[in-house]
Amino acid sequence: MGGLVAANMLSKKLGKRHEVMLVEKKTKYEFTPSYLWLMMGWREPLQITRNLSLLTNKDIAYVNGEVLGIDPSNRLVKTTTKNLTYDYLIVALGAELVPEAIPGFSESAHHTYTLEASMKLRENLRTFSGGTIAIGVSTLPFKCPAAPYEAALLLDYYFRERGIRDKVNFQFFTPEPLPMPVAGPAVGNRIRRMLEARGIDFYPNSKLLSVDSPQKEISFEKGENIKFDFLIAVPPHKSPNVVREAGLTNEAGWIPVDKKTLTTRYDDLYAIGDVTAIKLFDGMMLPKAGVFAHAQAEVVAHNIAVDIAGGGERKEFDGKGYCFIEAGSGKAGLASGEFYAEPRVVNIKSPKISRIWHLGKILFEKYWLWRWF
Ligand SMILES: Cc1cc2nc3c(=O)[nH]c(=O)nc-3n(C[C@H](O)[C@H](O)[C@H](O)COP(=O)(O)OP(=O)(O)OC[C@H]3O[C@@H](n4cnc5c(N)ncnc54)[C@H](O)[C@@H]3O)c2cc1C
Repeated sequence: MGGLVAANMLSKKLGKRHEVMLVEKKTKYEFTPSYLWLMMGWREPLQITRNLSLLTNKDIAYVNGEVLGIDPSNRLVKTTTKNLTYDYLIVALGAELVPEAIPGFSESAHHTYTLEASMKLRENLRTFSGGTIAIGVSTLPFKCPAAPYEAALLLDYYFRERGIRDKVNFQFFTPEPLPMPVAGPAVGNRIRRMLEARGIDFYPNSKLLSVDSPQKEISFEKGENIKFDFLIAVPPHKSPNVVREAGLTNEAGWIPVDKKTLTTRYDDLYAIGDVTAIKLFDGMMLPKAGVFAHAQAEVVAHNIAVDIAGGGERKEFDGKGYCFIEAGSGKAGLASGEFYAEPRVVNIKSPKISRIWHLGKILFEKYWLWRWF
């Protein structure tokens, strides 16, 4: 998301006199918020993907290759396609999934964190006729703090629609003390109440340790177990190897950046989005979410364009963001936050979930896929 926005904005601001390159190992862009709708059967892959080769129409040179190394001292990026030199580099490599970090996870756990996994989950849900669904978050950090909760609420609706909700028992587990803790107790308790109102049991402070596939049982660090018939869990995340090997990261493996300008310790090297680590005033971290990757990309692209072409004031990322929360029944909620405020300000936009916010999310999906391609 961040790379796509940054490349678009740079190309638009700088025109043909400068070269903007987007390096990406995939050939297609996938709109991740719609993975949940894929799971529900409300979208097909073609509706939420776009060929990255279309970016050449926007004067963006798309290099389809894997980044193998970043050498900031020599302003060099090594890829499987070619080696590239740069005047400015924006690292927007996101977070990688490492299901293998939890013993047994890959054999049993479904998830919505890739397009392929969302489709596989959808197929397997179709033949599920009842039993216990253990659903939740394996480890922290993970991208999109709302996504696993939305998945649970949507699946509650899915089984109601199929007329077998009474045969399905949901157990939601997470290492978090309450849903989306960075959004504060008002949002967290509201989501917890939404889960409980739908008969979804909630197990906070439960970090997944292992999955026993033959026994169909998950174990948590604090020593408790849950038996399951169907397992859905956010896989563990880590930063891409190349950013660690380039010496850009902190002890946790993420890239620390200036929270307003997104610069790293190299003046010509920026990092945005999920790959970064931005500490908030109380020690909590800025969540990994596309809304921030997007806003950061606009700031960095603007400032690079000012450096190169002059004109205009430099901008700063203000830590503001918003989040739609799908709740099933064609309804959603919306929360917005000022994450750099001290104390943080998070507003729930309306007292009730409503069709309007679900419609808002649909319009946003359409807008996004039109805007950047
Ligand atoms: C189910 C789901 C729902 C979500 N819903 C929302 C939502 O509603 N709102 C929201 O704000 N966020 C949402 N997100 C989170 C959002 O998708 C991410 O936070 C966002 O994509 C981060 O943008 P990014 O640019 O940092 O990384 P990404 O968008 O992940 O992009 C990183 C790119 O780098 C590429 N890459 C990685 N390593 C290499 C390499 N070595 N060489 C070449 N290419 C490489 C990857 O293929 C990837 O395309 C959701 C995520 C999921 C999984």
